[in-house]
Amino acid sequence: MPGPALLLPSPVEVLDDARLDAAGVRVLLKRDDLIHPELPGNKWRKLKYNLGAARTAGASTLLTFGGAYSNHIRAVAAAGALFGFETVGVIRGEAHDPLNPSLQFAVDRGMRLTYLDRQTYRRKTEPAVVDRLREQLGDFYLLPEGGSNVRAVRGCTELVDEITEDFDVVCCAVGTGGTLAGLAAGLAPHQRALGFSSLKGGDFLSDDVAAFQRAALGESTGNWEIETGYHFGG
Ligand SMILES: *Cc1c(COP(=O)(O)O)cnc(C)c1O
Repeated sequence: MPGPALLLPSPVEVLDDARLDAAGVRVLLKRDDLIHPELPGNKWRKLKYNLGAARTAGASTLLTFGGAYSNHIRAVAAAGALFGFETVGVIRGEAHDPLNPSLQFAVDRGMRLTYLDRQTYRRKTEPAVVDRLREQLGDFYLLPEGGSNVRAVRGCTELVDEITEDFDVVCCAVGTGGTLAGLAAGLAPHQRALGFSSLKGGDFLSDDVAAFQRAALGESTGNWEIETGYHFGG
């Protein structure tokens, strides 16, 4: 698929910090933030196979969902501009006027914004809601909230394949859980994954990660857990 230059594999750096030395812990940073300035990190990995599928399906428009500060919304807007798709962002809640910096960025990259009240937004995976969006906006390739689906899990699994250093635990933040599901799926038997919920009340995320893994791999791997006490208010 033709597209922009991406820094892949992303580099791995050692985090130099006296507190880590004192604790006898070695921390490596997988610098996925450097993959592309507007399409960083796990967002690129989750979109990769979805963009390919959208193109194969002949779709010209990507539609996705997110809150008003969603990094995923930003990334989809950037991906549309970089890979030649129209984009629609369905935003939870009231229309924003003026736009916050995240939504302004999305609009500047050509994304069309539409808003769903919170009650309807909660039902966004139901066919009735999706059908109405199709009636209003025309046909589109649907990316779920946070971009997390089976193709996203596959893309995140590749992150692990790029790491040549040995390690015991891989850590990531968890928003919708697709990244953790993919990382854990790519691990060797002696390794495990630890996710940190970025949401307050993130206990439901374990069910979501298990469901992503069952959909992508046929089973949930037992090598991951989610720490829900470090959301700092969500
Ligand atoms: C989007 C995002 C996440 C969450 O990824 P999920 O696959 O939705 O769990 C974590 N960290 C950062 C920096 C993100 O931008």
